[in-house]
Amino acid sequence: MNLVCMLVLTLMKLHQSPVVASPLRIQPSQLPIGLSEADQKFAEEYLQHFYGYQPKSDRQKRAADYNEDLDWTTGLCDKVKEMQRFFGLPPDGELNKETLAVMKKPRCGLSDVEPYGSTFRWTKQTVSYRIARINLPFPATKIHKVIKGALNLWSSVSLIKFHKRKRREADIVIAFVSSEHGDRAPFDGKGGILAHAYLPGSGIGGDVHFDTAEEWNLNFTGISLLVVAAHEFGHALGLSHSSDPGSIMYPAYNFAPNFELQLSFDDVKNIQRLYGINSNFPSLLLKKPPPRTPDKCDPDLSFDAVTELQQEVVFFKDRFMWRKHPNFVKTSITLISSLWSDSVPSYLDAVYENGEKNLILFFKGDQYWKLQQLILQEGFPRNISDLGFPNRIKSVDAALHFRNNRYTVFFTGHECWRYNEQQGVMDGSSMLIEQQWPGIPFPVDAAIFYEGFVNFFQGNKQYKYDFVQNRVVSVSSANGLLDCKMEKSNDDTL
Ligand code: ZN
Ligand code: CA
Repeated sequence: MNLVCMLVLTLMKLHQSPVVASPLRIQPSQLPIGLSEADQKFAEEYLQHFYGYQPKSDRQKRAADYNEDLDWTTGLCDKVKEMQRFFGLPPDGELNKETLAVMKKPRCGLSDVEPYGSTFRWTKQTVSYRIARINLPFPATKIHKVIKGALNLWSSVSLIKFHKRKRREADIVIAFVSSEHGDRAPFDGKGGILAHAYLPGSGIGGDVHFDTAEEWNLNFTGISLLVVAAHEFGHALGLSHSSDPGSIMYPAYNFAPNFELQLSFDDVKNIQRLYGINSNFPSLLLKKPPPRTPDKCDPDLSFDAVTELQQEVVFFKDRFMWRKHPNFVKTSITLISSLWSDSVPSYLDAVYENGEKNLILFFKGDQYWKLQQLILQEGFPRNISDLGFPNRIKSVDAALHFRNNRYTVFFTGHECWRYNEQQGVMDGSSMLIEQQWPGIPFPVDAAIFYEGFVNFFQGNKQYKYDFVQNRVVSVSSANGLLDCKMEKSNDDTL
């Protein structure tokens, strides 16, 4: 058990009355700071549904029946950690705001921990499907088109084929339903669970249900029916949830508007493992290869931006980030949107934290975003010229913040700029990187003040710079701060 989790438990134990007056209710004063009773209940139900958590009431009954010591937090803490690991959050076992926010994202109704997978598959090559009930404000033909498009994603890379049936019973029965709908897995109204599916099998096996209470969209805004359908058909074909945030089988809905839906490298590998490889696949691979989720141990890995974030170091790449936390050895990948929702864009140029003012600034192109406590500040994004850059500067390569001296150095091409955080102005005009930071290659990708040195990132290298001696003291691989030697990298051939 780690420190934080232990601390929460200890605090809770201290608050619990030694005389078992009313052990069946946790008083609000006993909850972790900032956690309401409703949130506590929500989190328990979430963990029960998706992580096999045994709820408090069940265990209380057990404890009463068997005269066992009741410590409701132990099970909860472990389940919170399991969920945090799945979503790439620091696994401290604490039901903090951030963890709750991830729990509250719209998602698929299937569990994240069931040991399902390769044992479930259709043994026939052609699977029939039927759209039984459509209860959405769109023409049926459009729904049929979206469903076909979602099935095509899977059949274009593997040997599975789909055959549409109009009336007769089908293997995959698709229905748009709400609340209780006859399978003892009721939907929950708008938000929360978006849809669920049954693994291949007879009867209800392979069936897919969508919650009609959602605001479905047929294009790529809001909750996209195509995206959710593609995910659910993955289950209907036998795939389980993936903790790879680039996979279509990731359980939470995490797509920015107007993205381009494609099966990921892993999705393709997994469906081909179940159903074989489509003969058209090699040409598809050449034309439009499935995107790979960046691998922290890839020797060619480079970063878009790197920043301090309280006690963590955060590495940004495309839509993803890794959060290096001092208390945890393992650094997991997660989505930028898992922490900041859609407030900040992906494919960033630079990021820095002004810890004193509790602000975090994101840069992309000629715009920047300012957030406080995960909330985008009013009037943002703004143009970077507001910070004092001349109009000729169209983007920032990297931002390096010095907490103690309260200034930030911006890097643009071969130049650097010093921004005075206290006065909110640029200190004079630009300087040359080769004069200010001799030995640093430019343009730089990212820069961070770390353990007394400045680490500059360019391509797959990082340069440790001693700014007392004014020189580079070592060069190593860009991912050197991520825990790469700990893990064996996955098989990466298709
Ligand atoms: Zn799912
Ligand atoms: Ca719902």
